[in-house]
Amino acid sequence: MSLLKVTDLGKSFGGNRAVDGVSFEVAAGELLALIGPNGAGKSTTFNMVNGQLRADSGSIKLDGTELIGRKPRDIWHRGVGRTFQIAETFASLTVVENVQMALLSADAKLYQLWQRAAQHKRDEALALLDQVGMKAQADRPCSVLAYGDVKRVELAIAMANAPKLLLMDEPTAGMAPKERNDLMALARRLAHEQSIGVLFTEHSMDVVFAHADRIIVLARGELIAEGTPCEVRDDARVREVYFGGGTTFERVAAEIGNA
Ligand code: ADP
Ligand code: MG
Repeated sequence: MSLLKVTDLGKSFGGNRAVDGVSFEVAAGELLALIGPNGAGKSTTFNMVNGQLRADSGSIKLDGTELIGRKPRDIWHRGVGRTFQIAETFASLTVVENVQMALLSADAKLYQLWQRAAQHKRDEALALLDQVGMKAQADRPCSVLAYGDVKRVELAIAMANAPKLLLMDEPTAGMAPKERNDLMALARRLAHEQSIGVLFTEHSMDVVFAHADRIIVLARGELIAEGTPCEVRDDARVREVYFGGGTTFERVAAEIGNA
């Protein structure tokens, strides 16, 4: 049985069918990319899986349990993690303190405890930071980190509730090509080593084709293709719908070639 099974998912905003009968599955340990042009319905799909948006129709099952109708916090407790941008207010905390906050939250401890328990969960937080290669920078404030390092801390935070499924909506936005590749390689390693299913969106085709185990393609709310990177790249409909509209396939192919 797959970890996540999405069946005939639908969501409209007014008359706009943002997600229109989408079905796909994510297996444990698999890095699945969700791609498509702007407005294709990627974020809407993500937000239905994490419970921020309620689906109009269809089914979203995690290990056989229906998620539609559940609160985001319940879905999170059931093992759906997501990356959040580190909020401004937490930028003054150190790297390890940010992860400790996430661990406290995972335990439903009260924020006030924080003041009295500076050591609380520190070892666990350091272990998570170790997994993303940020242990050495644990005691620096997040505000002084390089952008790519902040993203790695965000990944450690998302790992705090030991997710079965990790959702990453444009995790590499604003990053340089090398940083993007490093972050996705890390996500892929964590997925494979810990059998976590990862569903991510990404604009950069070189990153998608280099790191995804499988790709699904949305266009105007509909799923138009799915398969391995090679299969999707050679799909005539993907070339037409996704790579069309101003970007020639040759240019995209060249970009992939330069990855
Ligand atoms: P993507 O993430 O693939 O760029 P989105 O899921 O954000 O696409 O958007 C899909 C469609 O739904 C777009 O036409 C967008 O304008 C519309 N949409 C998304 N969110 C809302 C919303 N909260 N209210 C109204 N329309 C929305
Ligand atoms: Mg989006």
